[in-house]
Amino acid sequence: MEYFSTRNNHISLSFENIFLKGLSDEGGLFLPKKIKKFSNNELLSLKELSYEDLATEIISIFTGNFCSKKQLKEIVKKSYSTFSEKDVVKLRKIDDLQILELFHGPTLAFKDVAMQLIGNFYEYFLSKNSNKINIIVATSGDTGAAAIDAIKGKENINIFVLHPHNKISPVQRMLMTTNKSKNIFNIAINGNFDDCQNLVKQMFADRSFSKAINMSGVNSINWARIIAQTVYYFFCYFRIENNEKISFSVPTGNFGDVYAGYLAKKMGLPIDKLLVATNENDILHRAISKGDYKANQVKETISPSMDIQVASNFERLLFQIYDNNSEKIIEIMKDIKNNEFNLDEIALKKIQKDFLSESLNEKEILEIIKNVYKNYKVVIDPHTAIGVGAVKKIKKNNFVVLATAHPCKFPNAIFKSIEKKVDLPNHLKGILNQKEEYKVFQNDLESLKSYIKNNCK
Ligand SMILES: *Cc1c(COP(=O)(O)O)cnc(C)c1O
Repeated sequence: MEYFSTRNNHISLSFENIFLKGLSDEGGLFLPKKIKKFSNNELLSLKELSYEDLATEIISIFTGNFCSKKQLKEIVKKSYSTFSEKDVVKLRKIDDLQILELFHGPTLAFKDVAMQLIGNFYEYFLSKNSNKINIIVATSGDTGAAAIDAIKGKENINIFVLHPHNKISPVQRMLMTTNKSKNIFNIAINGNFDDCQNLVKQMFADRSFSKAINMSGVNSINWARIIAQTVYYFFCYFRIENNEKISFSVPTGNFGDVYAGYLAKKMGLPIDKLLVATNENDILHRAISKGDYKANQVKETISPSMDIQVASNFERLLFQIYDNNSEKIIEIMKDIKNNEFNLDEIALKKIQKDFLSESLNEKEILEIIKNVYKNYKVVIDPHTAIGVGAVKKIKKNNFVVLATAHPCKFPNAIFKSIEKKVDLPNHLKGILNQKEEYKVFQNDLESLKSYIKNNCK
């Protein structure tokens, strides 16, 4: 499989290339030149597969000769052996509520599904090459913990994680900062998530710096994350017992998870609608409902993993909507940077064929957690609540809501809503008494770069 970039459709790179780079040199995002579409018969042949076998089939389409299918299967197996659910994910149906729980990995958010795999991709690559790699990643709370768990203790690889200082939940922070592995570096930035993401993008763009440290990225723009997440859309469809089209409600921040659903649809999975569910940082809701793609100030909410205004993966959708025209995307990205982009009528119509959107405010989120607990006796986390609430708002049934995090990661919000304490699972309780280690930095590129240079492999 060959890949090009949303900002340069002339290049041609392998999976190995684009996996290690994360972001293209000119700042674009990677996409495969062709997307395989399954026939109905092919879909049928995937129906009975275990999660691991299904993952192997789907992911191998994209990884080409990065590794053999047999090796891939081993990598997949190893990656998901860290999950507490045998099937990796768990579909929960109670009356009209259908929830796909994606948080049974080691750090209790859906980010583990992709990140465990990525950690083992790096390990596999480094076992064959004498390189050293330094990963730099920005997190709105969950990516960092998932990446740290996936990379901890691995040889020839360091990871530097930037999180917005005091803007993630204490449990989210402790899952990262209590890890004692020598190859883990936690950095709190005085700023918000967009600032963190921006610093990482600037370091990538500084070619002499990123080359010198052999920098690699695992943010949700990394294509490997998207393909790993595509798997559970298929798995869920096969476990729902009817042959109708399926729709998903997806709590959305950086547009990575919901984009994976779009990819599944492009690959022939009978998906009707993808509902983009946002919190008060509603740029994607405004864009999808009326074409208004203007960033506001980031608001802090009780769903911090979605406190984002610059939804990086949206660029992939735009590229496809505009018929792979990278000149057009370069123009659009300039307009977005100057905060003067609106979707035109034709593009909006195309997007609305596949996507719906809704947004929930803080009060509505707390209300949904309360109602779900009252009606179904299930405690859901604030992000998942946004997915549930969005379905309520559009007054439709039959949507599967992706449950993106375990409620114990957000105990304060849960307590505020239903006055209940949700405990961490036993194996994680230890983090609450351990010493935390992280450095606090100003939102300043140069001092950060010199810290990383001094500590890199
Ligand atoms: C990251 C995250 C999201 C948002 O996912 P995107 O791929 O960035 O849209 C939603 N919920 C939780 C719990 C997350 O950690």
